[in-house]
This record gives sequence, C-alpha cells and structure tokens, in this order.
Amino acid sequence: MSTRVPSALSESFQGELVGPDHPGYDEHRKVWNGSIDRRPALIARCAGVADVVAAVRFAREAGLEVAVRGGGHSFPGLSVCDGGLVIDLGPMRDVRVDPQARTATAQAGVLWGELDRATQAHGLATTGGIVTHTGVAGLTLGGGIGWLQRKHGLTIDRLVCADVVTADGDVVKASATENPDLFWGLRGAGGNFGIVTEFEFRLDPVGPTVLAGPIFWPIEQSPDLLRFYRDWIAEAPDELMTIVVHRQAPALDFVPRELHGKLVAIVACCYAGPIEEGEKVVRPLKGFGSPVLDACVPKPYVDHQSMFDPSFPHGWWYYFRACDVAELSDDVIDITVAHALRIDSPRTSFPIWQLGGALARVDEDETAFQGRSAGHTFNLSGVTEGPDGFDAQREWVRTFWSALEPHHTSVYVNFLMDEGDEGIRRAYGPAKYERLKQLKRRWDPDNFFHLNQNIPPG
Ligand SMILES: Cc1cc2nc3c(=O)[nH]c(=O)nc-3n(C[C@H](O)[C@H](O)[C@H](O)COP(=O)(O)OP(=O)(O)OC[C@H]3O[C@@H](n4cnc5c(N)ncnc54)[C@H](O)[C@@H]3O)c2cc1C
Repeated sequence: MSTRVPSALSESFQGELVGPDHPGYDEHRKVWNGSIDRRPALIARCAGVADVVAAVRFAREAGLEVAVRGGGHSFPGLSVCDGGLVIDLGPMRDVRVDPQARTATAQAGVLWGELDRATQAHGLATTGGIVTHTGVAGLTLGGGIGWLQRKHGLTIDRLVCADVVTADGDVVKASATENPDLFWGLRGAGGNFGIVTEFEFRLDPVGPTVLAGPIFWPIEQSPDLLRFYRDWIAEAPDELMTIVVHRQAPALDFVPRELHGKLVAIVACCYAGPIEEGEKVVRPLKGFGSPVLDACVPKPYVDHQSMFDPSFPHGWWYYFRACDVAELSDDVIDITVAHALRIDSPRTSFPIWQLGGALARVDEDETAFQGRSAGHTFNLSGVTEGPDGFDAQREWVRTFWSALEPHHTSVYVNFLMDEGDEGIRRAYGPAKYERLKQLKRRWDPDNFFHLNQNIPPG
C-alpha cells in the first residue's frame, strides 16, 4: 500500500489518519512495551463509532491486516502491526457516571485512571486495573483483576453491556438479553469477536478513603513471611485484597534511602471497607517479623490505584510469563524465594495476586474467563530500561516459570506473552476453548480479528 492516506477512507473519516509521512507517526505507532517496534501502513485514530465502522469496512475491502488498540498495554504488543491498519480507539475518551443508577459508561479509549477519577467523584468504583495508564478496553475484555475483585468480582462481573462493531462492520449491543452468546465471549476472550466501542459498568460504593499500601520485609524473612501470609489470608474477609511482590526496593520518595536497591518481600494491601475494620484485619500482618517499612495507611483509593505507576512506565522493555497456582504450598514458596534471590535488575519484580472471594463465587461457565478457582496468579516481569541486559531478564522469567510448571493450574489470558496456541488453550481449558471456536465461527468466520490471543474459528 502506498504511504498516502487512501481517499476511500479519508472522505468520511472524522478522526485522524496517520501514515508513515505524518509527523505524529512514530508517536502513535509506539505501544507501552518498548521492546515492540512495528510499522503499520496506516493508523486510524477514531473519533467515534462511525469511524470504527469505516475503518473496518476499508480494511476488509483493501485486504489489510487489522490491529485494534485501546490503551496499547498488551504485553506482546498485539495492538500494533507491521504493514497493516491500526484501528486506534485512543481519542474515544468519553466517561459518563450515573450516580443514582450506580453505573458508568466508558468509551474504548478510556484509561483506568480516568474512569476511577470520574467514579470516585461520587464515592463509587468498579473493579479495575492497578496501573492508571492501562486501557479499560483490553483489560476488561480479558477479565479484569484488581484491588476490588475479592469484594466485587472481576471487571467483567460488573459489565452490564457493550456496544460492538462486528467483523462485517455492523453495530450491535451485547448484554445478558441482547446477543447473550457474544456477551459471554466478550467477557474473557478479548477482541476475538469484534471491536467494543463503549462499555457500561455497574458501580459500588468504595472509599473514597481506603486502608491500603505496601509493607516491606528484608528478603531473608520471605520464607517465613510467605508461610505466615498463607495462613493469614485463609481467614481473610472479601474486603481484603493483597498482592505479594519481591523486588529490589525502588528509589521512591516514600522508601527510606538505606533500603533502595535492597531485595525485599512486600505485601501490598487494600481493604475495601471501613478503615477501623481494615486496621483490625491487617494488624497481625503488620506484627509479623520485623517490617522495615509500613506504608499501609488510610489514603484516597485513587492514590492507591496509582501506587504501581512508577514501576511500569511506558517505553521500558518488558518480558512476562504468568501462571495460576492452587495454593502457596511449601514447594511453591521454596521456588518463589529461590528465584526472588536471583533478581538482579532494579526494574524486575513479580507480583503474586491473591484471588478468591467474590470472583470465585461466580460460576466458571458464566463467562469465557477461566481460572476462578485458582488461589493465586503469578505475574513474572523481567524488566530493563532498554535493550541492555534484557535477554538475561527474559531468561530469568522463563526459568522461574518452568520451575513453577508442576504447580500451574491455568493462566490469565491478559498476562500471556508469546506462548502461542498452547498458552491460549491453557488459558481457557479444552471445553471453553471449543465453545469459543464455535462462537468465533458465528461472529468472525474469516478470523478478521486475529491480532489478539487468537481463537481460530471452529
Ligand atoms: C502496566 C500494566 C498493568 C496492568 N495491570 C493489570 C491489572 O491490574 N489487571 C488486569 O487484569 N490486567 C492488567 N494488565 C494486563 C492488561 O489487562 C492487558 O495488557 C490489556 O490487554 C491491556 O489493555 P489495553 O487496552 O491497554 O491494551 P491494548 O494493547 O490496546 O489491547 C490489548 C488487546 O485487546 C484488544 N483490544 C483493545 N481494545 C479493544 C476493543 N475496544 N475492542 C476489541 N478488542 C480490543 C487488542 O486488539 C489487543 O489484542 C496490565 C498491563 C500493564 C502493561
């Protein structure tokens, strides 16, 4: 295709068409993961639903491969392609909150920080991602895990309906009553079935002040801490959600200078209930061993939602592997500690997410998302600021992931990297994978939307 913007699209398009000659081309082809460098033929920055429809129809007629971009945070960079058309929903940023009905609608380019800010103005929230610049769209379509999941379920459990542009360029609604098969597939199987232009979420009262934040221990206390933690969370109420992180202590303002760069074990908490109750629940953890930093305090929920932002900025090089495990058995703990001790990049870390609670009480067949009965999700992140040393971090991730392999139960599809068809099958399990193939045949028989964790049509 020529680098000139095709008139077939430009005549009706309201947004911006960015080809390789456009001054903003390099900015707009960038995705969050700096290790991804692709050069699409054209980027269609859509202003609304009509632009999305026009872009889909144009790509079909021109025989162009299509990548769909929400927030651009796909670990393997699935929202940008070489030589094809990127349908970029970034400019579609409208958020509307109905505080009486306790619902919010978000267009497909909205980021989590924007949605949280709008809903928290009314003391409301929906379960969302824990880094503010992640896209609402891609995160929701994979399932959506976050600080509120044990109290209120996954993001998809709060989804009321979605507006979808299909592979034929039609506009349809998906909800429990309209196109319920599509609604089932959208809740966990990503962008396989169409382009969502708008989401409607149910909201719940949250905060706006919550008891939340990290507590740090020296790495030497990690084996005992993890055993204590295992027993402590067994009795935890749904309001409590925790993430365990091992890493070198970051050089951030709230971390004492003498800790910077030292390996630490961290338990980050969020109590989505009254502060005094939270203090009682968290007290035993705070009393365990000898923490070197306790930053788990009452704070605005939106501040807590940005806690991890400095650790995952745009443009660094990231390599991930992930797996779910049933429990933190002694063997899992031993593997965890052994690999934590080998962390040698100040950017590398590995969150272990606590599951259970409300998300586990939804029937496994209710949505395409799989893995509700798992105990924890490991998210192994090998990170460098650029190419230097990246291969070594990737190797650390792969070795760690392989060591955990006997304990894998499932994997969260949004945490997949480059595991291909095998990883996708593991994410859904054989029965759901077959059901998704049939659904794909109905909604996208030509596999027009294939730059995603792809389910080929049955
Ligand atoms: C820093 C960071 C923090 C994260 N934190 C969390 C977290 O707290 N909880 C969690 O569950 N996950 C988290 N994730 C994983 C996240 O859910 C996925 O990376 C997700 O794909 C990001 O969505 P996005 O819209 O930003 O990505 P994009 O790269 O834009 O899209 C990801 C995939 O979704 C498809 N897609 C995007 N928008 C649409 C649309 N409107 N319609 C149809 N398909 C679409 C794309 O084609 C692509 O295949 C995090 C990721 C990062 C990088």
